[in-house]
Amino acid sequence: MAGFKFADRPLHVIADELNDGAYSCAELSEAFLDHVAAEDGKVRAFLKLDGERVLEAARAADARRAAGQALSEFDGIPIGIKDCIVAKDETCSCASKLLEHVVSPYDSTAVARLKARGFIPFGRLNMDEFAMGSSCENSAFQKTANPRDLARVPGGSSGGSAACVAASFAPAALGSDTGGSIRQPAAFCGIVGLKPTYGRVSRHGLVAFASSLDQIGPMTHDVLDAAILLDVISGHDPMDSTSLPVAAGGFADAVRNDAGSSLRGMRIGLPKEYFTGAGLAPGVARVMEENIARARELGAEVIDVSLPHTKYAVAVYYIIATAEASANLARFDGIRYGARVEGRDLVDTYFKTRGAGFGDEVKRRILLGTYVLSSGYYDAYYLRAQKVRTLIRRDFEEAFRTCDLLLTPVTPNVAFKFGEKSDPLQMYLSDIFTIALNLSGNCGISIPGGSDFETGMPVGVQLLAPALEEARLLRAADCFMRGN
Ligand code: GLN
Repeated sequence: MAGFKFADRPLHVIADELNDGAYSCAELSEAFLDHVAAEDGKVRAFLKLDGERVLEAARAADARRAAGQALSEFDGIPIGIKDCIVAKDETCSCASKLLEHVVSPYDSTAVARLKARGFIPFGRLNMDEFAMGSSCENSAFQKTANPRDLARVPGGSSGGSAACVAASFAPAALGSDTGGSIRQPAAFCGIVGLKPTYGRVSRHGLVAFASSLDQIGPMTHDVLDAAILLDVISGHDPMDSTSLPVAAGGFADAVRNDAGSSLRGMRIGLPKEYFTGAGLAPGVARVMEENIARARELGAEVIDVSLPHTKYAVAVYYIIATAEASANLARFDGIRYGARVEGRDLVDTYFKTRGAGFGDEVKRRILLGTYVLSSGYYDAYYLRAQKVRTLIRRDFEEAFRTCDLLLTPVTPNVAFKFGEKSDPLQMYLSDIFTIALNLSGNCGISIPGGSDFETGMPVGVQLLAPALEEARLLRAADCFMRGN
């Protein structure tokens, strides 16, 4: 990707340049479109990208700027969108054949809020079908490659979003995180990925996978960009009954005002279950050690803590997530979603989509979910999982009594090669360090921490904070990254 003018350029830098008149919004979008046209044949991050639509929006932004009516300092900046977050008049397939031709009649709240500030939705990004997976290999359409090594996966399920940012196809992207799908691909591709507190960002217009776990979040080059996007997309939304009635905004200011500060006075906890006997690859373990040393250098007090129920997190997650998915996906019966297929009527759509059903992983999850919810097994699996979820949540509450943040690896290994994890159970186990956060509802971020000495691939560091403490989380993450 070297040689591309906007390679690795954060959106806040682009905003400054646009505001200085260094180039127009149309020139900016054109440059990104050209870059995608030249390089995405290798990466395959996009399922769809309508260049005309983007350029039209960019020209409108230029006109607003010329008239002194810019929607915000970010007016005219393109943002990639994961294909399960709807945007008006654009397809939303969730990388499933079943929804291949579905066009959304409305904007998700996150996209509507981006548009209100002038951001331009930039294409539809590949993902694991219905966000189920950790490698993007479950997409019904294409396998996205990791821009850092094309033989490796970008992670999942927001692999298209992570690859889009890492390849500088757009300055930033939105992803969704149910069990790690923002943080894990961010780590695999060497970018920043933020999973906000559950309820911080509206899920209205996010196609539901597991409703009690799903959150939309930003995937960016740096922490300030993540804060900027969180400012824009967060805040209460009456269209989502689980949206928290808390004030939005202030995150970018928190990061900016704190620039140059240290971690002095912070207590950072290392949950022992995430380190000892956790099966960390040597390269990941080394990067973790370096970052722990860094935390100390930056003035933090590093202490040992315990999250004793961590060992149940994978099992609990795969019961609760599949149960919720089986209920959520019941609506995709080939009739209800398809009515807006352009140029086709309902009956035609039904016959068109009927043969193109769910992929294997989605079927596996629906079967598992239906099983754990069935009478006779409900108490033994689902109810018990809910009880253990409470214990996992309490573990975090207990840990946060003694420290401000937790520091952990994001994944035990770096990005693997295509086909390397063909056993679904192996794939599930690779989520071990990310899913407890979703079960607890707290917020977390993955930032680039260094590279693996064996493969040269990026290694992510995960920072976790209590619910609604994104400002603290982002400030600390920014501090880490500036020194890296
Ligand atoms: N890898 C996890 C799963 O397959 C998480 C997915 C996600 O966060 N959407 O369910």
